[in-house]
Amino acid sequence: MLNTCIFCEIISGRVSSDKVFDDDMLYAFRDVNPQSPVHIVIVPKKHISTLGEVCESDEVVLGHIQVIASKIAKEFLSLKNGFRVVSNCGYDGGQTVYHVHYHLLGGRVFKWPPG
Ligand code: 5GP
Ligand code: ZN
Repeated sequence: MLNTCIFCEIISGRVSSDKVFDDDMLYAFRDVNPQSPVHIVIVPKKHISTLGEVCESDEVVLGHIQVIASKIAKEFLSLKNGFRVVSNCGYDGGQTVYHVHYHLLGGRVFKWPPG
């Protein structure tokens, strides 16, 4: 099929994933290529290609992702010392999958600025 989105496939269950959390608006799963001891990807169930193309009607789901990222970090992953939430946008931002997503990273100390 043309233009298949891997994250839409994961959300639908056609591609398997290690699910951490889901609700009516979002789906969270473990990254296949983790960059830290804990590496979760949180995606809206609605396909939005990139943060550069969000609109005002996406405010609710994007805000919801922040709240659920915090809940996952604290309640499910016990990241008591902190964590990082990051969204790569477009080529310069290092985005490789064009379905908006937030990386929830934890379990080690991160440097700033990122590379
Ligand atoms: P980006 O590079 O767009 O910011 O992040 C995409 C992330 O999705 C990468 O960290 C990559 O490892 C992850 N990823 C890509 N394909 C799959 C997949 O099929 N399953 C899982 N679990 N993660 C994936
Ligand atoms: Zn998608």
